[in-house]
Amino acid sequence: MSEIKKSLNFLEQIVEEDLAKGMERSKLKFRFPPEPNGYLHIGHAASICLNFGLGIKYGAPVNLRFDDTNPEKEEQEYVDAIQKDIEWLGFEWAEVLYSSDYFQQLYDWAVRMIKDGKAYVDDQDSKLIAEQKGTPTQAGVNSPFRNRSIEENLDLFEKMKNGDFNEGTHVLRAKIDMTSPNMLMRDPLMYRILHRAHHRTGESWKIYPMYDWTHGESDYIEQISHSLCTLEFKHHRELYDWFLDQVYDAKDVRPKQREFARRNLSYTVMSKRKLLQLVEEGHVNGWDDPRMPTISGLRRRGYTPTSIRDFSETAGIAKRDNVTDLALLEFHIRQELNKVAPRVMAVLDPVKLVITNYPEGQEEMLTAENNPEDEDAGFRTVPFSREIYIEREDFREVANKKFFRLKLGKEVRLKNAYIIQANDVVKNENDEITEIHCTYDPDSKSGSGSEASQRKVKGTIHWVSIDHALEAEVRLYDRLFTDEAPDAHKDKDFKEFLNPESLKKIDKAFIEPSLATATAGDSFQFQRLGYFNVDPDSTNEKLVFNRTVALRDSWAKIQQKK
Ligand code: ATP
Ligand code: MG
Repeated sequence: MSEIKKSLNFLEQIVEEDLAKGMERSKLKFRFPPEPNGYLHIGHAASICLNFGLGIKYGAPVNLRFDDTNPEKEEQEYVDAIQKDIEWLGFEWAEVLYSSDYFQQLYDWAVRMIKDGKAYVDDQDSKLIAEQKGTPTQAGVNSPFRNRSIEENLDLFEKMKNGDFNEGTHVLRAKIDMTSPNMLMRDPLMYRILHRAHHRTGESWKIYPMYDWTHGESDYIEQISHSLCTLEFKHHRELYDWFLDQVYDAKDVRPKQREFARRNLSYTVMSKRKLLQLVEEGHVNGWDDPRMPTISGLRRRGYTPTSIRDFSETAGIAKRDNVTDLALLEFHIRQELNKVAPRVMAVLDPVKLVITNYPEGQEEMLTAENNPEDEDAGFRTVPFSREIYIEREDFREVANKKFFRLKLGKEVRLKNAYIIQANDVVKNENDEITEIHCTYDPDSKSGSGSEASQRKVKGTIHWVSIDHALEAEVRLYDRLFTDEAPDAHKDKDFKEFLNPESLKKIDKAFIEPSLATATAGDSFQFQRLGYFNVDPDSTNEKLVFNRTVALRDSWAKIQQKK
């Protein structure tokens, strides 16, 4: 009885109810249907984790279906990137399929609908058609072409297909009900003419099916049992079902559309159109810029598949729209890296410190623990010498009692090394400190067990030996937008809220020499600073690091102070 049963989300409950009503378990099948018009983002991850998670839970297949009915916007680059990201997240699809594989079948069904008097060719332009649609409170009016003969419809539809007409001159519409309270049921478009090359079907098609006509039928062709989509499709469900009615055969599985709330994340935008704008206008350096909410951006930033999956799990699947705090995503990666990331020392804003009583030319290798959170992580050695760098902000000539770092006349411990006391400073003509002069207590070496080593001092600071340190570039990231919901302002463009300080580059940071062998993707905790990973921009000469996340969530505090 000790087993804790996790409560089911409402979509799992729907599946359970269907099984209870007699649906065979072996008939369960799901799909993830991205349009290949951009890179996947953290919102897509919610849908991926949901669909593939159901697949794992019920031992059911999950198809990856590219919903590729918009030749203008779709590209192979996106198809490849999407597959890479899903695999990286750790999921396996049953089949990779394309809506474009069904163009012929969809066309044949449309012809059948024309023959059944359920579809017609309209010669009006989109503006007129829109005007005749009416409003939610006012019925639409029938198109003058609504009742043309089946023969004429068949002839025109074939000509549309053959490319005999210009774009925008004709559309195929379902003949449903221009007075329906659901505007989507007022003779929706099924096909439009587009003389564009498609990334897979090339020049073969001059007409392309609309989303509503394609999606449900594709689900049916693949025999998807539960077609899960986001809330904005709720009103489409009636049409989804109507289109299914036109082709459904009782021996088959009848797909069921159900809706859940989109994942929104604070301080970013999630629409692919907007993300594309950021890329094309150069506000970020590509789709995988570490500030982007894309899966590829998060990967480059140092996020792991588990942290993203855990985040999706914690954030959950909701019935109503909501905004998830970015801090929750950061919490998950911080928690994971705390367990697995090796600790190292790096100094981002260096000031020179000379230990005047340490013999010139002497050096020693000190032992340092790789990860106190992981017993198996072992130890490494760190070189120590007379001249070291510390962070400029870790020293003050005078400071109050709350300043636990180094100040004149007081002691601190150098991490993994000795206790030092600051005695003096050297300044330049601008009154800036260029050197701090200290003395060390030779008996206070960390881990030596001596009485002096166990002496309590208030603070511990990190450092690197100047002679041994490597130079590195460090990229510090902050939120991409200064506003919690940058695209929720009616009168302002979301780009007005871009954070001008979202990237701060430090060209010359110093890191301990054990990092010489680090390679792209490796993650570390820079002690007292945060978690950092090696960026692919690194060269043999110089490593480049991204700050994945700070050690603590400082954002909330900064906001309070404002
Ligand atoms: P966008 O508005 O970002 O372009 P989209 O819905 O057009 O997104 P698709 O490629 O059509 O993107 O999405 C593939 C699947 O992922 C769909 O089932 C869609 O509902 C789901 N999805 C997209 N964005 C989110 C999100 N923010 N939260 C949850 N699911 C999402
Ligand atoms: Mg879409």
